Amino acid sequence: MSTGRHILVVEDERDMADMIAYALKRAGHSPVLAADGARAVQRATTSPPDLVVLDLMLPARPGLEVCKQLRTNPGTSQTPILMLTAKAEEADELLGLSAGADDYLTKPFSMKVLMARIEALLRRSAGSGGGDGAAGSVTLGQVVADLGSHTVMSDGQVVRLTLTEFKLLVALMQSPKRVLSRADLIARVMGPGIIVTARTIDVHIASIRKKLGMAGNQIRTIRGVGYQMSAEAEVVAE
Ligand code: CA
Repeated sequence: MSTGRHILVVEDERDMADMIAYALKRAGHSPVLAADGARAVQRATTSPPDLVVLDLMLPARPGLEVCKQLRTNPGTSQTPILMLTAKAEEADELLGLSAGADDYLTKPFSMKVLMARIEALLRRSAGSGGGDGAAGSVTLGQVVADLGSHTVMSDGQVVRLTLTEFKLLVALMQSPKRVLSRADLIARVMGPGIIVTARTIDVHIASIRKKLGMAGNQIRTIRGVGYQMSAEAEVVAE
């Protein structure tokens, strides 16, 4: 159904890169390969992709650096990034998420799972361009989220959020006073059938809070339940 998308695959291992490119082509997409970080940033700048598959282990410039660079570049500040990590070490995955990745997959993975994650991320970004009548804005306390342009203002300052962070924030802002469990947030933001750990949500929320500054205290952690956002910034001992 979906038309082919432009997907940048950043991976130095040739066999792995070729396998991913092959699977993407079979799914009707147009993959572009980059074997190192410098080329990846250059390609993403000249022709912003619809999604980036980024390996964490790259020569010269680590994937984390590439991720941060893509996030500071206006053309790719909200492009979905799926990070591939070599080790099943949680620390690596959490670092990737805090560097701005939207999702991650640990090697070795099945191509079927990778393709499912890619399609889920593409669906999420397609539904966020305001094409489904999502124009307008949501305001809660000091935070204003513009659903059409995807911009967030906190205390009058522009805040740069990744796509995943934006969606999480909007989900919280649209249900003020309600406590949303991590499972609720995963279902609303990641879409059905996506398996991420609750810890992933915690990392994204921590990043959102930090970026919102003082207004970050409008998001409360309800221990053992989830998160709740209100118009007032409350300082809660954790
Ligand atoms: Ca690699």
